[in-house]
Amino acid sequence: MTTTTQPSPTADAPADSSTNPLLLQWTGAFGGIPPLDMVSVEDFKPALEAAMAEEIAEVERIANDPAPLTFENTLAALERTGRTLDRVTTAYGIWSSTLNTSDFQPIEREMAPMLAAHSDRITQNAALFSRIDAVYASPAKATLTPEQQRLAWLYQTNFVRAGARLDDAAKTRLSAINQRLAALYTSFSQNVLADETDQMVVLNSEAELAGLPRSLRDGAAAAARAKGMQTGWVISNTRSSVDPFLTYSDNRELREKVWRMFVSRGDNPGANNNNAVITEILALRAERAKLLGYATHAHWRLENTMAKTPERAVELLEAVWRPASGRVAEEVRDMQALALSEGQNITIEPWDYRYYAEKVRKQRYDLDQNEVKPYLQLERLREGMFWVAGELFGFDFSPVTVPVYHPDVRVWEVTDRQSGRHIGLWYFDPYARAGKRSGAWMNSYRRQERFDDDVTTIVSNNSNFVMGAPGAPVLISWDDATTLFHEFGHALHGLSSNVNYPSLSGTAVPRDYVEFPSQLLEHWLTTPQVLQRFALHHETGQPIPQSLVDRIERASKFNQGFATTEYLSSAIIDMRMHLAGDRPIDPDVFERETLAELGMPRELVMRHRTPQFLHVFGGDGYSAGYYSYLWSDVLTADAYQAFVEAGGLYDPGVAARLRQHIFSIGNTVDPADAYRAFRGRDPEIEALMRKRGFGAVAP
Ligand SMILES: [Zn+2]
Repeated sequence: MTTTTQPSPTADAPADSSTNPLLLQWTGAFGGIPPLDMVSVEDFKPALEAAMAEEIAEVERIANDPAPLTFENTLAALERTGRTLDRVTTAYGIWSSTLNTSDFQPIEREMAPMLAAHSDRITQNAALFSRIDAVYASPAKATLTPEQQRLAWLYQTNFVRAGARLDDAAKTRLSAINQRLAALYTSFSQNVLADETDQMVVLNSEAELAGLPRSLRDGAAAAARAKGMQTGWVISNTRSSVDPFLTYSDNRELREKVWRMFVSRGDNPGANNNNAVITEILALRAERAKLLGYATHAHWRLENTMAKTPERAVELLEAVWRPASGRVAEEVRDMQALALSEGQNITIEPWDYRYYAEKVRKQRYDLDQNEVKPYLQLERLREGMFWVAGELFGFDFSPVTVPVYHPDVRVWEVTDRQSGRHIGLWYFDPYARAGKRSGAWMNSYRRQERFDDDVTTIVSNNSNFVMGAPGAPVLISWDDATTLFHEFGHALHGLSSNVNYPSLSGTAVPRDYVEFPSQLLEHWLTTPQVLQRFALHHETGQPIPQSLVDRIERASKFNQGFATTEYLSSAIIDMRMHLAGDRPIDPDVFERETLAELGMPRELVMRHRTPQFLHVFGGDGYSAGYYSYLWSDVLTADAYQAFVEAGGLYDPGVAARLRQHIFSIGNTVDPADAYRAFRGRDPEIEALMRKRGFGAVAP
């Protein structure tokens, strides 16, 4: 099924695989390797078309099977379909997210609606749905394994939620909406990418670099050369470039200029403006929710999550909002006082926040991020992650040479330390480049499964580190190191998967649960075991001094007002926009009025303003779902306490429970039950409030 893509090498040979490399089986070692070095963008369209046709034929055979229906000839059979399309969309997804250049973009614009229509053709197949529904309702279901019963539930609810019970006219309208939305998501993403690529602030003199650390200057010089400039420095319009500039630049005017550029992505006059796109997306989502019988898009989206209802999600967001925004007022007071003491008679503005927060951090905790960075070498930290995976999961990593889509990409084989058994492959694509979307993410090229053959997984981690001078180690910030461990947590979630059916495998869990394993893994970065072995000074090789680690620890709750409030404001706007029903929404007005009503502190801005909110408008995935990070963090903070109570993060007993009940089970168990099995009780919010330094829960 492509509604939940699940690449695998085990399918029958496709009809016409002779000339198009995208249609080839994955052959060779490790259960088959994607031939990513053979892809040409002109192959995507014919490959996608052939693979979609193949899947429709497979699904038709199941829908029209004359044999009496069973779990095997319906649901297990469906798990075997769409294998070719899974392989093609794996490559298509890689190009879309990491090689999205001008030759690929028209293909994406054309194919996105076709893929949406294809998915609807399957979920709207009445004969197929009646079989799924019959298996789900059959008394024979009780004889299935718990995992098979969960799969039956998943198919039944996914089809109903996608409109399988609607009449023909409603189905036609629904499919038209989905196709239009797919086109709009593509436009939205490409518009943001265009502003990030085309806009920059060019610095021409040493004076304009005042305050910037060496690494940032070097990165800015390299960015200028990459743009063909012989001299000068470029601050690119991406977070990895903008945030450090705002933290260190002494030039207030330039800070304001860079800040305005960054928060205006997708909001500038001209062809890349996203406001009309957002209005149309919200209207279509509201119409779709109504067609499907839900009050709003948010109600539809949250039904099959852990939160279950928007009300429960909003309740959590609002419980944290008051202490977080209250903390902002304290942070601003501290910054204001420090600015005054330096003779700067200014009012703290959003472009001052990171700059003065850094100064307060230095003053209060004697902690300078630039003092930390020389110890954070990307490659050493990668080795540190491997070491953690060995301690907790018994995994070993060894580099392998397999075909890749870009020379920056490296691949490791993962094996089980005890048995030597092959576990999977881990692809690592660490560096920023033109056409790669910003941020960091994990994805799965092939899901683990076992119901026919033993199929191992292939996962990848992607980020946007700025490459240093040739041969020089890449030094990253503490925040980036945390993100590195976070994404590796997603990868370990995929690699640990031990289930039968691919639709239930690995990270295919509810959105507000999927961030839990990844956020939890962030904690191992801070352990002395990792820091003493792997946080080594790039020149002296000395481990990071304990006094510095202590200062990092003491400062861990610093600036949580800012971090939590910039996140929460985005999460609340996302939720409110999708609870607003079908009234037309001007995103600019909606954002301004909602923030005013919330009492958004004027000194900061949403982490993602609506015109650039890719989580929410680049696809359906995180729509009415940005709250998921906080929801998952309640679990994360509470689960972390389980380790603390047991004596530490390397406690073998808790680690075994973590593998057994969380990392290995995919979506075979309801997440609330899985968490209870791990912890012995439901999660409690107090640990989260302590972690962020907010004291007791707001009444
Ligand atoms: Zn994540």
